[in-house]
Amino acid sequence: MKELFTIFGNPINHSKSPLMHNSAFRGLGYNGCYTRYKLEDGSQLREKFFELNINGANITVPHKKEAFKACDWLDDFAKRVGAVNTIVKRDGKLYGYNTDALGFLKAIEEFKNAKRVLLLGAGGTAQATSAILKDAGYIVTILNRSAKRLEQYREFETYTFETFKITKRYDLIVNMTSAGLEDNILPSPKEILNSVIKDAQACIDIIYGKETPFLKLAKSMGVYIKDGSDMLLYQGVIAFRHFTHQKFSFDEVERYMREAI
Ligand code: NDP
Repeated sequence: MKELFTIFGNPINHSKSPLMHNSAFRGLGYNGCYTRYKLEDGSQLREKFFELNINGANITVPHKKEAFKACDWLDDFAKRVGAVNTIVKRDGKLYGYNTDALGFLKAIEEFKNAKRVLLLGAGGTAQATSAILKDAGYIVTILNRSAKRLEQYREFETYTFETFKITKRYDLIVNMTSAGLEDNILPSPKEILNSVIKDAQACIDIIYGKETPFLKLAKSMGVYIKDGSDMLLYQGVIAFRHFTHQKFSFDEVERYMREAI
C-alpha cells in the first residue's frame, strides 16, 4: 500500500519539500506520496495527522513547537531544543525529530576554517542551530531585533540592535530571521550589517530560492554568499531517511532530492 506523507505549515505554497520527497520516492522505487497541508491551528496537528492517515510529516513555520507537543516520543536533540520538524508514525505512536539544525551544520561544512558565527535572529531555527553549532565547537553570538527571545540563550553572547557592539571578527554571518522571506527587509539595521559583513568569510541566508536583501547587500560588498537550498536539501534527506526507516543511504537520497531542486 502507498505510504502517505505531508508537510504542515502556514503559508505552505512556497515549500519545495513535496518536489524533493516525491523525486526520491520515484528514484528509489519506494511506494510513497508526499503532499502539502495548510494548517492554520497548530494545536490540531496531532488530530489531523491521524485523520489524514499519514505515515509521516514535516512541519514548518509556525508549528514546530506545537509539533513538539504532539509527539509521543522525542529524540534527544528535539527534546533539548523544544522544536520538531519531522514526525514519523510507528505502531500508532508519533516519533518526533529535528533535522533542521543537522541540515544547517552539513550545509556549512564547506567553510573549513570558520569558527565564529553571528546568528541574526533568535527564533525556533536559531535556537536549534545555535545548540548544534556550539556542540560542534563554533563560537556563536546571537543578534535579535527584540530582547524577549534572547532570554533562552543564557549560554551565548547575545545582543539586540540597541546593545550591539563589535568585540570580534565573525567568519560567518547567518540570517535566521524571516526578514526577506515575503518582504524586502534587512534582518538588522544596515549600519550593523555593514560593520560586520566587511570582515566575514561568507554570508548565509537560510531562506532559499531567492536573493534576499541581506544576500544582495553582502554580494555588493564582495563577500561570498550562500542561500538556504543546501540546508533545505540536507534536512530533507535526513527526514526522508527517518520516513523510510534508514533503508537508503544519505548519498542516494541526496542524489534524487538534489536533482529535484
Ligand atoms: P521564528 O518565527 O521562530 O523566528 C523569527 C525570527 O525572525 C525572530 O528572531 C524574529 O525576531 C525575527 N524577525 C522576524 N521578522 C523580522 C524583521 N522584519 N526584522 C528583524 N527580525 C525579524 O522563525 P523560524 O526560526 O522558524 O524561521 C526563520 C526563517 O528560517 C524563516 O524564513 C524560515 O522560512 C527559514 N527556514 C529555512 C529552512 C531551510 O531549510 N532552508 C529551515 C527552517 C527555517 P523577534 O524576536 O524580534 O520577533
